[in-house]
Amino acid sequence: MEQNQDKLKEIISHSKEYGFIFPSSDIYEGLAATYDYGQLGSELKNNIKQYWWKAMTQMHQNIVGIDASIFMHPKTWKASGHVDAFNDPLVDNKDSKKRYRADVLIEEHIEKINKKIEKEVSKGKKRFGEAFDEKEFRNTNPNVLRNLKKIDSIENSMKKTLEENDLEGLRQLIVDLEIACPLSGSRNWTEVKQFNLMFATEIGSVAGESSRIYLRPETAQGIFVNFLNVQKSGRMKIPFGIAQIGKAFRNEIIARQFIFRMREFEQMEMQFFVQPGEEMKWYDYWKSMREKWHKNLGLGEEMYRFHDHIKLAHYANAASDIEFNFPMGFKELEGIHSRTDFDLKQHEAHSGKKLSYFDPELNESYVPYVVETSVGLDRMFLAVLSASYQQEILSDQSKRVVLKIPPALAPIKAAILPLVKKDGLPEIGQEIANELKFDYNIQIDQKDSIGKRYRRQDAIGTPVCITIDHDTLNDKSVTIRYRDTMKQERIEISKLSSILNKELGWKSLLEKLN
Ligand code: ATP
Repeated sequence: MEQNQDKLKEIISHSKEYGFIFPSSDIYEGLAATYDYGQLGSELKNNIKQYWWKAMTQMHQNIVGIDASIFMHPKTWKASGHVDAFNDPLVDNKDSKKRYRADVLIEEHIEKINKKIEKEVSKGKKRFGEAFDEKEFRNTNPNVLRNLKKIDSIENSMKKTLEENDLEGLRQLIVDLEIACPLSGSRNWTEVKQFNLMFATEIGSVAGESSRIYLRPETAQGIFVNFLNVQKSGRMKIPFGIAQIGKAFRNEIIARQFIFRMREFEQMEMQFFVQPGEEMKWYDYWKSMREKWHKNLGLGEEMYRFHDHIKLAHYANAASDIEFNFPMGFKELEGIHSRTDFDLKQHEAHSGKKLSYFDPELNESYVPYVVETSVGLDRMFLAVLSASYQQEILSDQSKRVVLKIPPALAPIKAAILPLVKKDGLPEIGQEIANELKFDYNIQIDQKDSIGKRYRRQDAIGTPVCITIDHDTLNDKSVTIRYRDTMKQERIEISKLSSILNKELGWKSLLEKLN
């Protein structure tokens, strides 16, 4: 755990040092839990967006994208349930004065019990060696069973209190489980209160005429209110999807852990409209498609797990998270929700406009059901960055820090390194850059020894370095050095473009999704 916290700290400082992420308003000592993406960070972020956008829209004939505004009519949020129900239960520790989300405190307690189970399993593995039958062990070991029962009972109690909005019961659960404040170690808790997460502001400049308006807490509603506009203008036939990437704002009770939980963040959401009754089929389909999209990045299959929701949101009839193994442990990266016809029906009721679809095949009208996939762009960024960040000890015992970012997502795709700053080598470098720059972000680096330059490019995740030396003048070839293997090969300049395309073009990543 401690080691992992150290890893997070290293990533934060690496991000700042190389221009991925800076604390916001840095010269004013920063603003809590707010960050700015720097010159390399914004490239990586844009590439993650493109990977998602292309995978959703370009790869699916029946999904189109929109870009709705952040401000929406205030009735939107009444209809969606956010004004009345977008709350988190908060609780304060009286000694440390630290504020927590009551449900998160309990979930962390459950996670500790989970860890005990995993420890027991790995002890079993060691003890029985080859003969170990993990499934059998999990089904019969008394310690594992006892802990599973404990988790089950805690989850049931939590679900009940949350569903019944029983805040006193929720507090009692924290007390009964003897959960202590990680900071003060005390169990001196205040009562649990509900806290609405929406940011409100005023629109209009004339006093008296202004009205309360919200910064959107999710991008989804911009899609729902445009459902018919898109369906009609795009002549879309169900099933079809609408995708969107954009900012969302939540006044989180605790915003911690770097860019994992912020008050201003970006979401990549897709609402898939289906015939009522078919939603579970599509829910399963999107669960597996989204899993494939994540695993396709090659960050490691074992880095992901599904977690079904204990408490379903007011709009959902099924919900599951894809969790990622961040430096802080497994946490939610993406949510996949079956939202029924809740949102469209609510908007019909509040706007007085019909939001139904005439299905030519069934020859009837209905309000479609919706399956949603919703992934946090900043969390995706942290997932890519933290899984890519590696420290290696090389054969000569020197250390290298390398970001093994999936090549298609790397901020700089290739570095061009003329060995010396004379004899016409820089000019050849410039010529190569002029050719490649139409397709890729290229950096020319002429300063310091070649070894130092390689290290610098490793540290920012550049997949290939192209070195120009004196032989280049005669053989019209360069040396390509690959980031992950550090292998080098001699390549004709005329073949560079096609090699880069194979190594780091979008096709190389997207074709595996087919
Ligand atoms: P959590 O349980 O972590 O608060 P959530 O279940 O409320 O998240 P959703 O409403 O399902 O999140 O939002 C979809 C996605 O948006 C999440 O999976 C996450 O990746 C991202 N997200 C939500 N809140 C934040 C935040 N405060 N900062 C960064 N990303 C966020």
